[in-house]
Amino acid sequence: SAETRAALKTFIEQHELRLETCFGCPIRCWATLSVAEGETASVIACQGTWTSLAYFMKIADPATLWQLYVTCQKLGLDAGGTSALMAFAMALFEHGVIDADTTGGINLTWGDGEAAAEMIRRIAYREGFGDILANGVKAAAEHLGEAARQHAVTSKGGLEMWLMENRPFKGAALAGAVSDAGSPNRATYAFPDYYARSMPQQAAMVAKNITGSEDDADPGRYEAKPKVVIAYEDAHILADCLGVCSIPFQPAGLELWQHAFAAATGRSEGLKDLLRAAERIRNVERLFNVRQGLTRDDDALPDKLFDEPLQGGPWSGAVLERDRFEQMKDTYYALRGWDQSGKPTPETLTKLGLAMYL
Ligand code: SF4
Repeated sequence: SAETRAALKTFIEQHELRLETCFGCPIRCWATLSVAEGETASVIACQGTWTSLAYFMKIADPATLWQLYVTCQKLGLDAGGTSALMAFAMALFEHGVIDADTTGGINLTWGDGEAAAEMIRRIAYREGFGDILANGVKAAAEHLGEAARQHAVTSKGGLEMWLMENRPFKGAALAGAVSDAGSPNRATYAFPDYYARSMPQQAAMVAKNITGSEDDADPGRYEAKPKVVIAYEDAHILADCLGVCSIPFQPAGLELWQHAFAAATGRSEGLKDLLRAAERIRNVERLFNVRQGLTRDDDALPDKLFDEPLQGGPWSGAVLERDRFEQMKDTYYALRGWDQSGKPTPETLTKLGLAMYL
């Protein structure tokens, strides 16, 4: 709204907010602000966690958001996970699953920064209802019963889903479901679904390089997304192995990493070899989860993302279709060389030199 934009402009001017970057990186993913605490100082905010606080609690005022972010930092809480936790609590409050008696007198309504700040403090100090929330969304939902479970937005292992809304972005939804640690996950950083509207030409170019069709940049398309997810997974794993930031890259432009690797090590592995190493890692990670008892059923997302279309905003009406989502998993497993339970096949392990794990 115009009011929100005006508040943001004032905040930026008052706090001299500016974007910063690591040396030579064009992404500029930090925001620094000047704050008055005795002396003027600069602080760095991770934009992802900051915007999560805004999105999940429906708080528009930047000054309030900043205070909540700093509160989380001072209390030693991850702002991203906390924002998902607070969204869960606010949804329970909205739907009457909890009330002010449950929360110790706090009206946990959407957009109320003061109420959020107090509940965040109680989470950190494990006071009253905060003690229940402090165990995380999954454990809190189990404690509160079936009505609460319906509002729990968690993925594999009960990890809170924050950072991105999955309903409009079919490829990101798949990446979150099949990832080994749950969503948010490394495969979706810089995922073309997310910038298909803001940078359509770049998204189309990336999609074409991976699938052969610019149309696959469309966030609402399901068919070719497994191929895109695999390209991103392997590239991110490679970035982690090389010790470089994985954000400013596209899977179609990894030659730079190959050259840097060769310059640093004197080794001459080609890009294919490096990506094969990433694929091996992906399979070993998967085998670890298989050994822990995880199956296809754990490559899942909350029912809410299939049953409740998004309300309002530019993606209003977006929802995941269960059949097509499951078809994406089928294709993903087949492309990975896994069986339909999500387990790497003996042939795949042998081909990758991982026969010792058979
Ligand atoms: S994208 Fe990575 S390298 Fe670039 S500014 Fe952000 S953290 Fe630094």
